Amino acid sequence: MKKGQLLTRRFSSPALPDPGPLPASVPIAQAEPPESMELIAVPTGVNNRMAAYAYRGGSVFDRRDFYIGAALIKHPQGDLLVDAGFGRGIAQQFSTMPRYFRAITRYQLWEPAADQLEAAGYDFGRLKAILLTHAHWDHMSGMPDFPGLPIMVTAQDKTFFDSTAAPGHSGPPSFGPPFTETPFNWQILDFEGGPYLGFAASHDVYGDGSIVCVPAPGHTPGSIIIFVTLPGNIRYAFVGDLVWQREGLTKRVERPWLIQRQADTDPAGNRQNLLHMVSVMQRIPSMIVVPAHDQRAYAEMARLPKATAKSLIL
Ligand SMILES: [Zn+2]
Repeated sequence: MKKGQLLTRRFSSPALPDPGPLPASVPIAQAEPPESMELIAVPTGVNNRMAAYAYRGGSVFDRRDFYIGAALIKHPQGDLLVDAGFGRGIAQQFSTMPRYFRAITRYQLWEPAADQLEAAGYDFGRLKAILLTHAHWDHMSGMPDFPGLPIMVTAQDKTFFDSTAAPGHSGPPSFGPPFTETPFNWQILDFEGGPYLGFAASHDVYGDGSIVCVPAPGHTPGSIIIFVTLPGNIRYAFVGDLVWQREGLTKRVERPWLIQRQADTDPAGNRQNLLHMVSVMQRIPSMIVVPAHDQRAYAEMARLPKATAKSLIL
């Protein structure tokens, strides 16, 4: 390779090709969300990272504390927590993780989701399940704080979790045996619902189109995207760790190569779903996309009363 070519390659844009909007032939499903539906951010802490870790082209000087937490969806048929964030046992759970991972990870626990709900006088009888975007440690830590509560997860990620939690496993990161001794009430998600926004299959949680999950494998084998539609046709997409920060979608950039190899079980699958989500955003520009670790996405949501967690970065 000539020197000029090398320079071009080195400094060319890391952006993926623009896939264009979802074709007009793909129907946009309408929802009938109940009037009382609400969406509430439940931040439980942060993981200290930087933009250069989050996406290609990000700066090492751009500090990006990753949101670690949940989102509470209030629905008259039963509330859902999207992910669980850090729980009361995070310090002990973290101590069981691979040494290399502990060495590169700094986190701060603010306040576990269960404590925030308790402080707010929340009626735990309303809570139907924790709905996991995927089975990684920073999305699952708070699960033992809700004993017996159904944990909705894909079959692929249940298997993935069981394999990564096995003794001697060295990554991608999950928890060691002390975490898994808690018997979880797993509830496997089926995608019986047919195509949704161009994704091949779907699961409509309450049958009213207000909460619809689609498979989006790649980051983990059973990662999902959760589409939430609130009254007034306010549309959200909880994309889990499809990207770590919004720039992944707005700039069409993947995780840095070395990090991608560690973080994603199937980088090509993740890329395909990333580009599909870009198409959805071009077709529905008003959709609010929520990467699980982007504080800016949650900063615009309501919060629980009396939550003592620090304010989020806007
Ligand atoms: Zn993850």
